[in-house]
Amino acid sequence: MHPLAMLSPTLILNTLNKRQSEMTKLDIHQIPVMRDNYVYLLHEADADLTAALDPAVHEPVLEALKQKGWTLTHILNTHHHNDHVGGNLALKEATGCTIVGAKIDNYRIPGIDIEVSDGEIFALGGAIANVMEVPGHTKGHIVYWFDASDALFCGDTMFAMGCGRLSEGTAEELWASLTKLMALPDETRIYCAHEYTQANGAFALSVEPGNEALVNRMKEVNAKRAKGISTVPSLLGEERSTNPFLRPNSSEIQQTIGLSTQDNLSIFTEIRKRKDDFNAVNRQYFK
Ligand code: ZN
Ligand code: FE
Repeated sequence: MHPLAMLSPTLILNTLNKRQSEMTKLDIHQIPVMRDNYVYLLHEADADLTAALDPAVHEPVLEALKQKGWTLTHILNTHHHNDHVGGNLALKEATGCTIVGAKIDNYRIPGIDIEVSDGEIFALGGAIANVMEVPGHTKGHIVYWFDASDALFCGDTMFAMGCGRLSEGTAEELWASLTKLMALPDETRIYCAHEYTQANGAFALSVEPGNEALVNRMKEVNAKRAKGISTVPSLLGEERSTNPFLRPNSSEIQQTIGLSTQDNLSIFTEIRKRKDDFNAVNRQYFK
């Protein structure tokens, strides 16, 4: 009997995918667009496939494709907001690409062809994405985790030193979603959709000024931004030590907000609320 015959079908699939994903790493290209959005090109060289992740607009994407000599075959969307799907239809018309998005959001992802759900995989050739549903910023938000590339495309769910605002979901949902993402390895690169790092860091410092890792990170971030350099992606390990939304256990944060409790959700909820107030006061950072 073939050794694989003894395994369950899911296990066989996982084994095969694992082998495949160990071979294929993505070539990732970041395109800054509009005020602070990042679109990504994901290139799988063996199969010559290229996906655009959350194309807010189409022209800069077509330009980057031309520069790279890549042909667009797919669009991957994390959620339905216009600064993530705005380029979908024009890119589809120009290239005939296939659009992938959340099944539960199929009615509001323009041009969707392939509908994916929590726990499913999407294969860009040999590059395998694990799809996770992460409600909170929106009800239908999903992320794509390419584990062999140590790459997480998390849209507006987690940012460098921040997290998405609650435009549709609840704090409870977003906390559960962030908890899911925190289970990934420290070396996971966080490819979020916006350059909000400096504003997020200013808030982080306001609730945890004594965090040395945070103070040092902000120095680096400020130096990079002064030169117009991107601060994305970061590493999940860095986020764990500096992102206030992932740190309800910090006694300094608990002290600042006057909540000393073991209940992570109430601390997270209070921090999320304070960030909204902070944004309202610091209008230039409003998002
Ligand atoms: Zn959004
Ligand atoms: Fe966005």
